[in-house]
Amino acid sequence: MLLKQKAHTSYRRFPKRHRKLSIVLVAIVAIAIIWPLSEPEPESSSVLAQRQSLALGQKNIHEQQDNRHTTTAANQTKAEPISPLAARRKQNNQQQQDSESIVQQELAVSQERLKTDSAEPSVPSLETIPLNQAPSPRTEVYTIAKGDTLSTIFEQFDIGQSAMYQVLEADVSLLALDTLKPGDLLKFWIDEHQQLQKLEIRFNPAHQVLYSRVDDKEFTYEDIIIDGDWAQFPIKGIIEGSFSVSADRAGLTRGEVAQVAGLFKDKINFNRDFRVGDTFEIVRNRQFINGVPSGQSELSAIRLGNQKRELSAYLYQDGNYYDVKGDSLARAFLRRPLTQNYRVSSSFNPNRKHPVTGRIRPHNGVDFATPRGTKVLAAGDGVVTRIENHPYAGKYIVIEHGGQYRTRYLHLNKFKVSKGQAVSRGQTIALSGNTGRSTGPHLHYEFHINGRPVNPLTAKIPVAAAIDSSERDKFQALVKELNQMMEAG
Ligand SMILES: [Zn+2]
Repeated sequence: MLLKQKAHTSYRRFPKRHRKLSIVLVAIVAIAIIWPLSEPEPESSSVLAQRQSLALGQKNIHEQQDNRHTTTAANQTKAEPISPLAARRKQNNQQQQDSESIVQQELAVSQERLKTDSAEPSVPSLETIPLNQAPSPRTEVYTIAKGDTLSTIFEQFDIGQSAMYQVLEADVSLLALDTLKPGDLLKFWIDEHQQLQKLEIRFNPAHQVLYSRVDDKEFTYEDIIIDGDWAQFPIKGIIEGSFSVSADRAGLTRGEVAQVAGLFKDKINFNRDFRVGDTFEIVRNRQFINGVPSGQSELSAIRLGNQKRELSAYLYQDGNYYDVKGDSLARAFLRRPLTQNYRVSSSFNPNRKHPVTGRIRPHNGVDFATPRGTKVLAAGDGVVTRIENHPYAGKYIVIEHGGQYRTRYLHLNKFKVSKGQAVSRGQTIALSGNTGRSTGPHLHYEFHINGRPVNPLTAKIPVAAAIDSSERDKFQALVKELNQMMEAG
């Protein structure tokens, strides 16, 4: 319903004359490419820029095949020739802000390609190019802008609503399309029948999702997460004003500030207990893909000092934070986000086969047979980051639990919390239901570690405990190393 409404507004925002304008643009750019030029024309550089950005996503996927992790419904990434132009591609300067070096590498490749193209022997004259030529397969790259909806974007490229719903259906086990934000890139592969064949989301150099058509009715997905290289950097600061203002000034993101506050919330009141002159020292671990920062980072160590005491947190290899003595800072999670043990009606199964098509359709969560209206509890302390209504997942909630843990609750009937709200373990967040595509009332519950779904009933999830005595020495060596790094920084 919501999507339809948005599609309607998009008509008003993109009047018909824009389409005519685009057709004219296609023709102009087409001429610019095939015109036999002895000297470069101003148009050439813009064509070059377009090609360059089109090639960008493609290249990365290939280069990084060796160290990427994929969760997939069917593995089928194969290179396709890049279409010669995408004239209606939205111009946006701020795309690929942090990928300059890749762009430069691409430049050389694209220049080569451009030369080959203009050396083609038979060149049709202007008159022989009909404006209403049958469309040929093409790729389109689009940078998400503020206020965009999936409907408006699909509309802009003349891709039918049915394809959009098919992609949304493939996305139900991932829900990646709901996380699109300004600056993310979408790449469309559209065939000569104006049918969408593939869609890639490029969140950052380390994370892409590819949806591929398998038949008239269905798409599969591939979630591509690249490990890249990680490097640690110390950050130091002195409290002036509040902690968040000072941390922001030192370069921490809002998410990182919230994470620090969450880690120590039982030990310190961030509004009251800091004084001007108190210090904070942090080691931040940043991800690089081919030497380019991906924007992903994690905090390896944190020390907060005031006159009375020093607080510390060190990220150990098990993914949990411990203080300097080795006591865990993470609070335990509930195995089941419910007040009683409801029957499991469908288990976690990454290789589940669709009963009809026989294709792999992962079940990334556990289904509990809860009657409509059953209280759904927050599995752990955290912040509600998403409250959505999806055509297939129904009403759902996402909670981030600091660092690498995330839980999701689907097919809900009624929300009891709002976006941005901090929640505690065991707090009622919703009433279960049967919304979206669901065969009966149930709760679909997911637990993610570092963006990857795990079985919530069996996975190793944090329990408030101390470092095991057998690992004490190793942990103490890590503490020493990170302390030295903070002191040097
Ligand atoms: Zn389910």
